[in-house]
Amino acid sequence: MNIVMINISHRPWMYKPCYPIGLSYVVSAMRRAGYDFDIIDIDAHRPTDQELRRLLSQKTYDVIALGALVSGYKYAKQAATIARETNPDGIIIAGNSVASSIPEHLLTHTEVDVIVKGEGDLTMVNILRALEKGKSIRNLREVKGVVFLDNGTFVDTGYEKPIRDISEIPLPDWRLFDMELYLATYVQEVAEPYPIPKDRITAFTINTARGCPFRCTFCYHVFHYSSYRYRSAESIVAEIAELNARYGVNYINFYDECSFVGKSQIRAFLGELRKSGLQLYWNAIIRGDLFTEEDIDLLIDLRDAGCLSFGYSLESADAEILRSMNKKMTVEDFVIQKRALDKAGIMTYTSLVVGYPEETLETLKKTFDICYDLNIYPSTGYLLPQPGTPMFEVAKAKGLVNDMESYLMQMGDRQDLRFNLSRIPDDVLQAAVAGHLQKISDKLGLDLKREELVKTFSHVLSRSDAETGKTRSGPQ
Ligand code: SF4
Repeated sequence: MNIVMINISHRPWMYKPCYPIGLSYVVSAMRRAGYDFDIIDIDAHRPTDQELRRLLSQKTYDVIALGALVSGYKYAKQAATIARETNPDGIIIAGNSVASSIPEHLLTHTEVDVIVKGEGDLTMVNILRALEKGKSIRNLREVKGVVFLDNGTFVDTGYEKPIRDISEIPLPDWRLFDMELYLATYVQEVAEPYPIPKDRITAFTINTARGCPFRCTFCYHVFHYSSYRYRSAESIVAEIAELNARYGVNYINFYDECSFVGKSQIRAFLGELRKSGLQLYWNAIIRGDLFTEEDIDLLIDLRDAGCLSFGYSLESADAEILRSMNKKMTVEDFVIQKRALDKAGIMTYTSLVVGYPEETLETLKKTFDICYDLNIYPSTGYLLPQPGTPMFEVAKAKGLVNDMESYLMQMGDRQDLRFNLSRIPDDVLQAAVAGHLQKISDKLGLDLKREELVKTFSHVLSRSDAETGKTRSGPQ
């Protein structure tokens, strides 16, 4: 079988390729199962549509697979259209949230033939094994984790059992992607203050957990049907050691929904990292209420073990909105954690979700005032109601989803106001957000232009800023 795997770009207007970790696990599983395939990495190499047409015409592909977030629906649809034009008889398969969250729409409004629901590692291999027996999607009836149309009827085979111990998944086969390019890109993303001179940093990313134990009403993640699973400290450090040995990686960004939910988990990682003797710098994702002042010794140990920052969200400083988000966190706990991290000299990345139905100018002020007081420049995004979440049902009830296709085509970055569920008029909401951010930018001396206030990607603070607790927005 001729197989091609496509990595979509979600931000074609800006060159900021992001190593496709999920896809890399899937293609590594395919390779271990003995399959050979081509990869078209659109995000890394940015072919035009015409070049993509040419690449897809080089062979007669039997299987063309792509993955995208639901916010990238339009890009997935376009790639599937080109795949169909160039390979009329190919079976087009889609994965990730664009597939899991809107399976029926994707099958009826795009050229996609098969949906992979949830975890793709095993399902993709099983699909290929079934298609080897005969190139008909009917053969997929026995494969768990797929949805397809058979004679106008949707066939949904249910979820494949999630991999129980994700520590046992072999390391991704990085050689399948253009590592030289990704390593060169990641180092550009490293923000000041640099722990060592920038030219001695080699940065990369790893995934240490699948899913999240929480169910925020605005958040969709493909592992929502399974429990939160995280890798053992041994397995994480073994991957870092391998990246270090092969590529000299000494700076790691954890790319997870939630890297650490408990202190025992983080202590185990710390112990293993120390044992390894690796000289490493790292950033990870936690909840806003993991640490208090009582953890200061642990935090200092983490800092001494190369922890530069933690990313965690406030979302809103209004208790009612936090309840509506099902955030299960209090503003007080968030403040306590921020102060403890400041004291330990660990930076923080914080994000907000603006525009819940309960949002008012007063709740907005409350949220941004907390950020102002704590010297946080937050990564600010507007609520983006994604299919499959409770907030999408609210958007539907408010009449914002009368035409699903145009709704999906409008999706994209959360930094743009796309669907306003609050009662604040669009222009008033945007002006208020910009005004608050401007105030914080002025206080922190960030010197941001109006158009940079919400779309912040690489604001950089000096070491002295970090030491006084100033926080830059995270790359979102
Ligand atoms: S927003 Fe964060 S904490 Fe909430 S469900 Fe999503 S990943 Fe989990």
